[in-house]
Amino acid sequence: MDKKLLLAPSMGCCDLFDFRHQVEYIDRFADFLHIDIKDGNYVKTYSIGPDFMKALKPHVSTPMDAHLMVKHPQWIIDECAEAGATYITPHTDCIESDAFVTFNHIISLGCKAGAALNPASPLEAIRYYLPLLSKVTIMIVDAGYAGQKVIREMYGKIRTLVRWREEMGLHFLIEADGSMNRDVYRPLYEAGADVVVLGPPALWNKDQDIEKAWAVMQTEVDEELRAAGRK
Ligand code: MG
Repeated sequence: MDKKLLLAPSMGCCDLFDFRHQVEYIDRFADFLHIDIKDGNYVKTYSIGPDFMKALKPHVSTPMDAHLMVKHPQWIIDECAEAGATYITPHTDCIESDAFVTFNHIISLGCKAGAALNPASPLEAIRYYLPLLSKVTIMIVDAGYAGQKVIREMYGKIRTLVRWREEMGLHFLIEADGSMNRDVYRPLYEAGADVVVLGPPALWNKDQDIEKAWAVMQTEVDEELRAAGRK
């Protein structure tokens, strides 16, 4: 295998007292800037909103992905596009009544459409609109809550999705999100994930200095991928 594992740090985790430095440093090395938006309703926690992307946009060149953990994603899609999101990624169970309308709207705004599936959501839910998607985010824990154990059955979900992508001749990215840490890079990579979302356990908790933390994380990813047989 010579495929890379793309890195998507969750930017709301940046240290507010070292914010500019962390954003500028991460922007140089990350493949995506993952923006976790939570509404206290779909998930019972809160976070940043589209304004956060608007503030980042003039200072970053890495594509931003708005992961919408919100009950009514349709209400903020336009705002996310205006704020500079490249990808907009609602959860499948929030758009079941208007999935095609929602994804076509995202695409009409010039953005790329992503879909996020919580662990309990079946892959079958997204089969018919897969051709509209540029990315599928497989949650490997329930969205919105820190400190959960990774649900290993999600590796099989990723393998199935890789097979569907081949069978259907599609090219969307497959992203894994939730409780990311060294232990899961290898099984996710071997299952066929293209992107991993990095939170505090994978990145920020490694060191107070983001440059050192990034080096530790990158070494861990490289070692695990080498163990998986990446050249
Ligand atoms: Mg996320």
